[in-house]
Amino acid sequence: MESVRPRACERARQLASERADADLSEFEAMRLERHLARCTACAAFAAQLDAVVGSLRSAPIARLSSPVYFPVVRRPRQRALQLAAVGTTLAVIAAAVAIGMVASGPAPHGVPYSDVVLSADNGRAELDSARLAAARASTAPPAP
Ligand SMILES: [Zn+2]
Repeated sequence: MESVRPRACERARQLASERADADLSEFEAMRLERHLARCTACAAFAAQLDAVVGSLRSAPIARLSSPVYFPVVRRPRQRALQLAAVGTTLAVIAAAVAIGMVASGPAPHGVPYSDVVLSADNGRAELDSARLAAARASTAPPAP
């Protein structure tokens, strides 16, 4: 089991990793070098890291025999959130249109928008009444 390293060593190893990516400021580089001069364990770690990075960077680029495709996986929750967002957007648009129709006075064809909005069920109430009457007629006993 590896012993717990001091915080300074953890930071030095982080800096050694960042140095491999050339992401160190001048101050950070100096700080790392000072630590490596005093700490043999971190110096060995940094040397090994530099060797691995150098080896990887000098290796030839591997060519794949066929392209690699990664499937696009949609998460169900993400899909549900997208649908909910679409539904909310449509509801807001419908409300805005209804408010605009009610507030803007008579329509060009002379019927007030408020009447248009109030009868926007496209005759569903009348259809329901007709269906109810038909259902009652079919279950009623035949007339004598
Ligand atoms: Zn150290």
